[in-house]
Amino acid sequence: MLKRPYARAYIVLYYLVIVIFCITFFIEGQSVLREILSWTLPVLWIAVLIIRLKYLRCPYCRKLTVEPQWSESGTQECINCGKVFEYDK
Ligand SMILES: [Zn+2]
Repeated sequence: MLKRPYARAYIVLYYLVIVIFCITFFIEGQSVLREILSWTLPVLWIAVLIIRLKYLRCPYCRKLTVEPQWSESGTQECINCGKVFEYDK
């Protein structure tokens, strides 16, 4: 059973990392904001990786074949072992 909150946290953090990366790319020079964002980025990236590697794996074969789902939209099948995933909500 996969946990929906982890899938949602993963999606939010993933896009946050992309947005922050783009913002730091466009901020010119050395500013406090850029300093803060460049420290936040690796922390968020590590959080994304931890969620992905720890909580979003196939419950049967433990491979990283799970596509994070925000809401219920059909069932997913593991491309490795062929079993169907279930989310808790
Ligand atoms: Zn599997």
